[in-house]
Amino acid sequence: MNKSVKKRIILKLTGELLSSNTLQHVTAQIKHLKATHQFGVVVGGGNFFRGDQHGVALNLYPSTGHHIGMLATIMNGLILKDSFTRANVPSTLFSALVCPQVAAPLCQQAINNAFEQDHVVIFSGGTGTPFFTTDTNAVIRAAQVDAQEVWKATNVDGIYTADPARDRNAQMVKNISYEQAYDESLAIMDRTAYALASKHRICIRIFNIFASNALLNIAQDKQFASTIS
Ligand code: UDP
Repeated sequence: MNKSVKKRIILKLTGELLSSNTLQHVTAQIKHLKATHQFGVVVGGGNFFRGDQHGVALNLYPSTGHHIGMLATIMNGLILKDSFTRANVPSTLFSALVCPQVAAPLCQQAINNAFEQDHVVIFSGGTGTPFFTTDTNAVIRAAQVDAQEVWKATNVDGIYTADPARDRNAQMVKNISYEQAYDESLAIMDRTAYALASKHRICIRIFNIFASNALLNIAQDKQFASTIS
């Protein structure tokens, strides 16, 4: 298949995911899907550090905590890059925080070149600015690289009317609008992410990364999981 007709996706992986062997499954599925899809992966840092959580617990200045959170995403970027390399999947790790010993500085031309070379493009370092989240960053990068969809990996099958872990009557919702997600402050992402996705008309798909063949399923089935659009 011609590279230019491949569907371009931003996959948002929370840092929590990287501590499990799910990483291997994710890498294998991306390798499989590379024939038809191009992936930018936005990686979080929550398994190591979140400004609002760990920074507050340590009584840090907020911007210090958020910078540590962004540095944590670079560590996860290295973990991801390592996984792709071991699986013979070419990838480029970028960081929005300049850290050239471990990651390429974020630069539009370099990103374009990496996609052109059919690399998986890993975005670490968040937006490079405190007080944002990597969910918002996923939508920003999707707009930046003209991706059709953001696939937001979670540990639930989609969007529910209530927390399915706590409420047996919680029901899955297939489609909701950006406005509804924003107005209801849907906990799956933050409002800045919804507002930006709405402005740039980027479809967000919420799915369970722990389900078997989750990425293969979401790629094949438009109705798989839940969609914010
Ligand atoms: N962060 C930030 N600016 C950004 C992205 C992230 O300040 O543009 C900080 C923020 O403190 C956040 C932490 O980095 O809590 C880790 O990112 P996130 O919580 O989004 O990671 P995830 O929950 O996806 O693992």
